[in-house]
Amino acid sequence: MKKNSIFNYTLENLEIFLEKNNFKKFSAKQIFNWLYVKNILDFDLMTNLSKELKTFLKENFEINELNLLVSEESNDGTIKLLFMLDDKKTIETVLMPQKYGQSVCVTTQVGCKMSCTFCASGLIKTERNLETYEMVLQILTINKILKDKYIDDPDNPKARVSHIVVMGIGEPFDNFKNVWDFVNIVNNGNGYKIGARHITISTCGVVPKIIDFANLNSQVNLAISLHAPNNEIRNKLMPINKAYPIEKLIDAVKYYVNKTNRRITFEYILIEGINDSEQNAIELAKLVKGINGYVNLIPYNEVEENPFKRSTKISQFFQVLKKLNVNAILRKEFGIDINAACGQLRAKREGILKNEI
Ligand code: SAH
Repeated sequence: MKKNSIFNYTLENLEIFLEKNNFKKFSAKQIFNWLYVKNILDFDLMTNLSKELKTFLKENFEINELNLLVSEESNDGTIKLLFMLDDKKTIETVLMPQKYGQSVCVTTQVGCKMSCTFCASGLIKTERNLETYEMVLQILTINKILKDKYIDDPDNPKARVSHIVVMGIGEPFDNFKNVWDFVNIVNNGNGYKIGARHITISTCGVVPKIIDFANLNSQVNLAISLHAPNNEIRNKLMPINKAYPIEKLIDAVKYYVNKTNRRITFEYILIEGINDSEQNAIELAKLVKGINGYVNLIPYNEVEENPFKRSTKISQFFQVLKKLNVNAILRKEFGIDINAACGQLRAKREGILKNEI
C-alpha cells in the first residue's frame, strides 16, 4: 500500500491518528514544529520523538516532495514554479513579493471545470482535485526557496511566506474539503502560523458553497470573481452564472458579510469593449452599493487562444467608481514577462498555447 503523505494531516487529524494508535496526542504538535518550523523533513532527525513513534511514523507516513520542473523569476521578483505531480500532471504556483510580505498564489485543481471564457485554465482538459499535501507542498517549496534566498538574513520577514491567495488554477469551492484542510495546516500556530486574515479564497461564485463558507464563520478572506455588472455580460464570460445568476450571488455575498462581519472583495477584470464602459461602471456601482467590501480592478492578461483584449479605459472606469463612492483599487500586475497569469505557464508547457517557454 502506498503510504499517506504526512502533509495531508491537519494537526487535529494527526492527533486523532496518534491517539488511536496509543501514542501521545502532544507529539502531533512536535511533528508540526519539526516539519513546518524547523524544516526537518526526516522522521529520524526528529530528536524529541521516541524510537517507537519514529518507527510508527516511518511505517505509516511518507514525507514526500513535489517534483519542481521549472522555476522562473521575473524582473519584479515574481517567482513562478511549475511542478510535476506523481501522476505526471503539472501545476503551477506563483510567489508575488508585496510591500506587506511574501504572497503566494496557490493552485487547487489540475485544470478547471468552470470554463470562464477569458481564462487559460479552462484550456487544460484533464481535471482532478489536488490532494491537501499537493497544496501544502506548494507553500513548503516556496518557503525553501525563500529560506535559501535570505540565508544570511533568516529573521527577515521576506524569508518566509506570509500571505496566501487561493487564486491559482482551479475553483477552490469545487475542492473545498482539501482546500480547507490545507488552510488549517498553514494557519496552525504550531506550524507556518499564516494568519487567517492573511489568507484569501477566491471563487467564481458557487453560491451554496459561499453560504457554507459563511457558516464556518472564519476570519479567512473571501474574494468573488465578479467580472461583470449584469447577467447578460456575466453569462457570456462565466458559465457558472447560468446556474447562479448575479442576484443570487449578491444575496449570498450579503449573507456572508452579515454573518462574518468581514469585508468582501469583488474582483473585476477589465476587458476591452466587453465590461469596461462608463455604463458598466455605473451598473457595477449600483450592484455593490451598501455592501461592506471593495472592488479590485484587474487589467486583463491576454491569452492567445481567445479574442479578449486588455481594456484601454481602466483609469476612466476607476474614476467613475470613485465618483460614485465605490471603494475601488487598481491591482498591481505581477510577472507579466513570465506570463504569471492564471494557467498560462502550464498551458504553454503542455503546448496548448503557441508560445515557447
Ligand atoms: N476559480 C477561482 C480562483 C482561480 S482564478 C475564481 O474564479 O476566483 C483567479 C482569478 O484570476 C479569478 O478572478 C479569475 O477570473 C482571474 N483570471 C483568470 N484568467 C485571467 C486573465 N487572463 N487575466 C486576468 N485575470 C484572470
